[in-house]
Amino acid sequence: MGLEQIATEGLRPRSIHWRETAAVRFDAVLLRSDRYRKKRVIRTAANDAAATRPETDMKARLVGSRMIVPGILAFEVEPAEPFEFKAGQTSDIAIPQPAYTDDRGSARTFSITSVPGVAPLVFATRMTGSAFKRTLAEAPPGALLDLDGPYGSFTLHHNAARPAIILAGGIGITPFRSIIGDATRRNLPHRITLLYSNTSASSAAFLDDLTQFARENPNFHVVPTITAGVPGEPWSFETGRIDAAFVKAHVDDPAGAMFYIAGPAGFVAAMGRTATDIGADPDNIKSEEFPGY
Ligand SMILES: Cc1cc2nc3c(=O)[nH]c(=O)nc-3n(C[C@H](O)[C@H](O)[C@H](O)COP(=O)(O)OP(=O)(O)OC[C@H]3O[C@@H](n4cnc5c(N)ncnc54)[C@H](O)[C@@H]3O)c2cc1C
Repeated sequence: MGLEQIATEGLRPRSIHWRETAAVRFDAVLLRSDRYRKKRVIRTAANDAAATRPETDMKARLVGSRMIVPGILAFEVEPAEPFEFKAGQTSDIAIPQPAYTDDRGSARTFSITSVPGVAPLVFATRMTGSAFKRTLAEAPPGALLDLDGPYGSFTLHHNAARPAIILAGGIGITPFRSIIGDATRRNLPHRITLLYSNTSASSAAFLDDLTQFARENPNFHVVPTITAGVPGEPWSFETGRIDAAFVKAHVDDPAGAMFYIAGPAGFVAAMGRTATDIGADPDNIKSEEFPGY
């Protein structure tokens, strides 16, 4: 199965406009005041090297949405204008005339989970019952959204000699699907190990895509684990929480690796401690905390 198929697997978009994007480098890290995000990216030289590109603020069309696993909605968006991003970056999405409202507003930050150069843009979110997400889930294909981005430097480091260890908790997988899909598509030489923790087999979003990337990319290794499980659900991977022993059992040289961590706040804090416990240099830990879970 090709990456293009993987990127839209199961979503059955109403229309697909293939658009190859050019890789663009920028010399400056663009700083921007942030209305919606409480983003925490630990600044490192590698972060700074992965400079962001100029932002765009445009209308976009909802192509379609679908629950990919229970509780997680993936939605596809078609920007009105060419939209280029780097794997791992985010966008702010606002719903101009929301069907439901609450005091938490009608805009959110989401990691782009699709692969650069492979249309359409795909995002995924855990449904929590907020007015924003109920509006999004019920919005018909063709609904107009405001798309603001891309933002962020949560991107793969340049030095391929340094391996990447990725620790993803639940919905925190979204930027990594893009990063790993991009590394696979471009045959990047980086050695990447993904330790992916979920409560149960049925809550592990994009697991098929990730195992497919591992088949296509000899430099990528995925270790899914579940911490609770549902009786009767088949599961052929690891069980138990990610901790120092778990990481050391699956990677050779944690002290020499670049760590990437994303997920809910508790997961990010715990994994940051784990990484430093096993010798990671804090300068080599990049994390993104998803608030609201
Ligand atoms: C860099 C970055 C990338 C992200 N990527 C993704 C992604 O790919 N997918 C994704 O799903 N999310 C992502 N998020 C998080 C996303 O922006 C939302 O915060 C999250 O989805 C929760 O949205 P919500 O509508 O469910 O909750 P919200 O209603 O927006 O809740 C958000 C905040 O409000 C607080 N809150 C919730 N309920 C209440 C209440 N009743 N009273 C008072 N306070 C309350 C929460 O504690 C939280 O601090 C990302 C965030 C960041 C910063």
